[in-house]
Amino acid sequence: MKSNYLQTPIDYLKGVGPNRANLLRKELGIHTYQDLINLFPNRYIDRTQYYKIKGLQPNTAEIQVIGKITKFTEVAQKRGKRLVATFVDDTGAMELVWFRGQKWIRENLKLNTKYVAFGKTNAFGGKYSMPHPDLEPLEEHEKNMRSAMQPVYPSTEKLSNKGVSNRMISKIMQQIFIDTNGRFVETLSQNILSELKLISKSEALFNIHFPKSQELLSKAQFRLKFEELFYIQLQLIIKNLIHKSKIKGFPFDKVGTYFNTFFKDHLPFDLTGAQKRVLKEIRADLGSNAQMNRLLQGDVGSGKTIVAFMSTLMALDNGFQACLMAPTEILSVQHYNGLLELSKDLNISIEILTGSTKTSKRKIIHEKLESGELQLLIGTHALLEDKVKFKNLGLAIIDEQHRFGVAQRSKLWHKNTSPPHVLVMTATPIPRTLAMSVYGDLDISIIDELPPGRKSIKTVHRYDKNRLNVFRFIRDEIKLGRQVYVVYPLIKENEKMDYKDLMDGHESLSRDFPMPEYQISIVHGKMKPADKEYEMQRFIKGETQIMVATTVIEVGVNVPNASVMIIESAERFGLSQLHQLRGRVGRGAEQSYCILMTGYKLSQDSKKRLETMVKTNDGFEIAEVDLRLRGPGDIMGTQQSGVLNLKIADIIKDNDILQHARYHAKNILNKDKSLSTPENLPILNTYKSLSKYKNIWNYIS
Ligand code: ADP
Ligand code: MG
Repeated sequence: MKSNYLQTPIDYLKGVGPNRANLLRKELGIHTYQDLINLFPNRYIDRTQYYKIKGLQPNTAEIQVIGKITKFTEVAQKRGKRLVATFVDDTGAMELVWFRGQKWIRENLKLNTKYVAFGKTNAFGGKYSMPHPDLEPLEEHEKNMRSAMQPVYPSTEKLSNKGVSNRMISKIMQQIFIDTNGRFVETLSQNILSELKLISKSEALFNIHFPKSQELLSKAQFRLKFEELFYIQLQLIIKNLIHKSKIKGFPFDKVGTYFNTFFKDHLPFDLTGAQKRVLKEIRADLGSNAQMNRLLQGDVGSGKTIVAFMSTLMALDNGFQACLMAPTEILSVQHYNGLLELSKDLNISIEILTGSTKTSKRKIIHEKLESGELQLLIGTHALLEDKVKFKNLGLAIIDEQHRFGVAQRSKLWHKNTSPPHVLVMTATPIPRTLAMSVYGDLDISIIDELPPGRKSIKTVHRYDKNRLNVFRFIRDEIKLGRQVYVVYPLIKENEKMDYKDLMDGHESLSRDFPMPEYQISIVHGKMKPADKEYEMQRFIKGETQIMVATTVIEVGVNVPNASVMIIESAERFGLSQLHQLRGRVGRGAEQSYCILMTGYKLSQDSKKRLETMVKTNDGFEIAEVDLRLRGPGDIMGTQQSGVLNLKIADIIKDNDILQHARYHAKNILNKDKSLSTPENLPILNTYKSLSKYKNIWNYIS
């Protein structure tokens, strides 16, 4: 075998040919023999086990049953007809069903002959059926070898249509194992192998494709999952180490007058323990020589803003400028007003810059920024424009990080000759496991405590039919002096209909809550920023009691007197979005409520989402359910990370392995930063083949 055998393009495989090779590349990202070896089965099916009809269970995976067809029946249905065969064994009867290819079936299948039917079963009204089964005469079936663990490889419809079947992939796989003698280069160190009692790479690969026993299959899976997660963690940790050593940060040597004065005389409340802890973590970063790259996670309402503000004071105390970027105009304005209030006795110069800032005003801001007179700039993406130049930016804070891309984060890096310290904040609770993999290159701080006195929000689910009761409830709350949000979905593909719903809803509310007794604000994306701001301000000042809006108010908006959040068509929102929206209430001392409105028709997933919202207020718990329902690929901010194209590990189920992997990756780097000992050579080589930072260990050694 040639040493580069595994790098051979798949076109050279027998039976593949250019068309199928192209498909394999496109559909599964398989380019070389090596890639093929790393195509791991999704699951294994047992073709040595036979089920009796009497013992069938609903929703079983694919199973096989031995029996005879006693008769065929044609059943008319909405479109066309289906063919039903009665299939019996000595314990009972079930149905085999075909919606297509019926002629062929009738002509080729014999009555009262023994067949093995293989497929998935459905249960309906106590009866079992198997749609489009694989049928093989028992006689033939017995001639073939059957494995208890026959691998099923990932596939796509296009692949199976073009004849790239599971059987074919298995065959190719066999060929590769024959050509290589089943020997593959070891990718982990001997130390790890023995410490974790892992089987060798060759043994693992063999048993993942051709399991000799359940036990060896489990060992193979464990070893390969560990390896996969280990290298992800290793890369993330190295990236982080490189940042720290290569990129010098501005050391903020002192805690000065701004910070101390504010802390002593102007802090509007006692900080929570979590806020204090996080501030200490940030302080430690800023005081060191390294550049800070920190993610601050905290559920909605946990008080991230004050932490951000006090961090900017550390920058200002050391003669640096700071900026705070938020994803929407509304949120920027709110931060601006909030920080003006917090800093009113400190004599700090603060400005706001957004898409709607007038040119004349912009000019002044640009000048003051470059002269250094302006200390703190707040705003939207407008901050990223090239014209925005700081004299000496020391700290950049990004609020609601999930709304920004990685590219935007890195743009802030270049706003000074050396990169400023960066603090990104997010309330979208990312499950801890996921955060560890996706943001493993950032340091993470978590505020896991809400300010005291918060009452947890009462959440209920109501059907549209109960609207009158809901309106009555709103009236009572308004009588008590509270304010109410009514939020409508706005989904791009459905935009027109959604705006109509919003307007209709607004109109019907205006009828039930007439002026002058009631005042209603409306805010949506099609309004001019100034109009939005005007409406928002009316609500903030308490001039209007009801705010009708789309999800523009989803992030960050803070009106403590609002105590009711009504979410219309709640089934159309994702879980984390519902949680974000709910977070707009429960910000004051009053008992707050969230009412989820839906019609009767709900999918299983929608039901689960609504139930979860009713059951818990804990953002992390919600995030875990969300992750389960949607899979990690959809969770905000994770798309770009690439770590989710996992081949074998499952980020939720394999959390324990992930922890081990991270621990060992850290441990190895602690002892051998540059992976230069002979012991770690397999790791170094594998790392090199995976990482784009090939020369990186120069920096960290
Ligand atoms: P988020 O983490 O969602 O950005 P905010 O920073 O907007 O939360 O804070 C939510 C509300 O809680 C604000 O009204 C803020 O003034 C208040 N708050 C923050 N920290 C405390 C605290 N330690 N004690 C009391 N209230 C607090
Ligand atoms: Mg916030």
